[in-house]
Amino acid sequence: MNLIMFGPPGAGKGTQAVRLQEKYKVKQLSTGDMLRGEVSSGSVLGNRIKEIMEDGELVPDDIIIELIENCIGQPECKKGFILDGFPRTVAQAEALDVMLQKADRGIDHVIVLNVDEGALIQRIEKRAAETGGARADDNAETLKNRLTVYNRQTAPILPYYEGKGLLRQVDGMLPIDEVSARIDDVLDGRAAA
Ligand code: AMP
Repeated sequence: MNLIMFGPPGAGKGTQAVRLQEKYKVKQLSTGDMLRGEVSSGSVLGNRIKEIMEDGELVPDDIIIELIENCIGQPECKKGFILDGFPRTVAQAEALDVMLQKADRGIDHVIVLNVDEGALIQRIEKRAAETGGARADDNAETLKNRLTVYNRQTAPILPYYEGKGLLRQVDGMLPIDEVSARIDDVLDGRAAA
C-alpha cells in the first residue's frame, strides 16, 4: 500500500501517517523530518537548506526528489510507504511518477486532509507552545508564508491526482481518532472517492 498524505501545514498529516505506519506496517517518509535531521546534523546540505526552511519556502525540487528516490528503494519501503510532505510541487509529483514507474509501483490513494485556515494557525501555535519552539518555522509569521506557498505551489498538484482518480477527501477538522477512522474507511474501500 502506497499512500500520499496531502494537506496544508498543520492539517495533521504527520499524526495520521505515524498511526498508519503502526497499523499497516508501511514506512512513513516525512521529508520535513528528513530535512530537519539534515539541518541539525550541520551537514553542508543542512546549512544550505536551513534558511529556506526557516523562511517557510520550499527546498529545491532536485534535493527533495533525490531524498525520496533513495528512500523508496530501501527494504523498509518494500511493503509500502506513506509520503508525508511530498510531493509539494507539480514537478515533484511528476518525478515521483517516473520513479514509481521505473520500480513498477504506483500510488493507491492520495488522502487530502481539509482544515480551515483559522484552525491551522491555532494548531501550529499550540504545537509551538507544546514543543517550546523546537521548530523554527512554527510561528505565526512563517506559518503565513507556509500557507501562501502551499496555496501557490502545492495545492495545484490536486488536479493532477484528481485526473488520475486518486483523491480521497477527509475532514481534517474532526477529532484525531475520527480522522483516523475516516482514513481507515478509505483504505477499506468503504468511503466514496
Ligand atoms: P513539514 O515538516 O512537512 O511541514 O516541512 C517543513 C519544511 O521543510 C517546509 O516548510 C519546507 O521548507 C521543507 N520541505 C518539506 N518537504 C518538502 C518538499 N517536499 N519540497 C520542498 N520543501 C520541503
